[in-house]
Amino acid sequence: MLRQALLAVSKSERAERVISTSRLTADVVRRYVADDVGAVIGELTRKGLLVTVDHLGEEVTEQAQAEAAVAEYLRLLGLLPAGADVSVKLTALGLRLSEGLALDHAAAICRAAAARDVTVTLDAEEHDTISGLHSVHTALRGDHPDVGVVVQAYLPEALERCESLAGARVRLCKGAYTAPGAYTRPADIDRSFVRCLRILMAGTAYPMVATHDPRMVRIASTLAVLEGRDVTGYEHQMLYGVRPDEQLRLAGQGARMRVYVPYGSDWYAYLMRRLAERPRNLAFFLRSLLSR
Ligand code: FAD
Repeated sequence: MLRQALLAVSKSERAERVISTSRLTADVVRRYVADDVGAVIGELTRKGLLVTVDHLGEEVTEQAQAEAAVAEYLRLLGLLPAGADVSVKLTALGLRLSEGLALDHAAAICRAAAARDVTVTLDAEEHDTISGLHSVHTALRGDHPDVGVVVQAYLPEALERCESLAGARVRLCKGAYTAPGAYTRPADIDRSFVRCLRILMAGTAYPMVATHDPRMVRIASTLAVLEGRDVTGYEHQMLYGVRPDEQLRLAGQGARMRVYVPYGSDWYAYLMRRLAERPRNLAFFLRSLLSR
């Protein structure tokens, strides 16, 4: 119930105006969103962590906004070390305006990224964008075979999707939105996550295991061993600000550990999804409001 309510608030322009313009939310934002992205990338890299960087913004309604997002990604690429990744939301690149526009914009980012030895991963968003996401991903793979895509395990079609992504870089996550027909019980989502993991680890995809759930992390590492993958054959991914000690522990064990680093002023919807994932975060958020 609380999760649904927060996800609804994440789409409310009125709530966004109130919360975004409040200076009181700064502490919570800083926990999840990089203030100085160059400095954060430098710090994480020095600690042996890999990064995927997301310029915050989504659901743009004008072409000029989509073009500005592309320009920002091109600038960002100049800050990134080889081996980094950028995470891109197609609705920030104009998917709601036209699939062709989003494809052209994503292709421009892929070309610039390839020149810097950086990969691109397409985030998965609301359920009505998923078919556009996969058709753009398929089109991009022709020229950019290493472009990655996200699969949300809460979607019943996730397993089939994983089976169809042989040879691709695939980030598996539980899913941060709501969708008709999606699994909602944690046990069902976890079961789907593990089924997808089995397919990805046994096949030719490069699995990117995006979860903070200790059980899922353990299962992923075990399946990788069972399928004869060494530490370069898959990676763990976690969000900036979530379980940072576990990120360092995994990297310290020699695992490939990539941190998803969001930055930029358009943080509202992203932050609300993080609050929806964990009620305890909401208490932290409210405490920081009250303590001012
Ligand atoms: P949960 O069962 O939700 O959490 C397990 C444990 O992790 C919790 O008990 C808690 O200890 C910790 N935890 C989880 N979330 C938080 C939090 N916000 N704050 C503090 N602790 C927390 N979703 C999409 O729909 N599309 C995407 O493209 C996408 N990309 C992602 C990329 C990465 C790298 C990651 C890590 C997640 C991404 N997600 C995406 C979000 C994902 O779908 C989940 O909503 C989110 O990761 C929480 O699920 P979980 O697997 O960590 O497990």
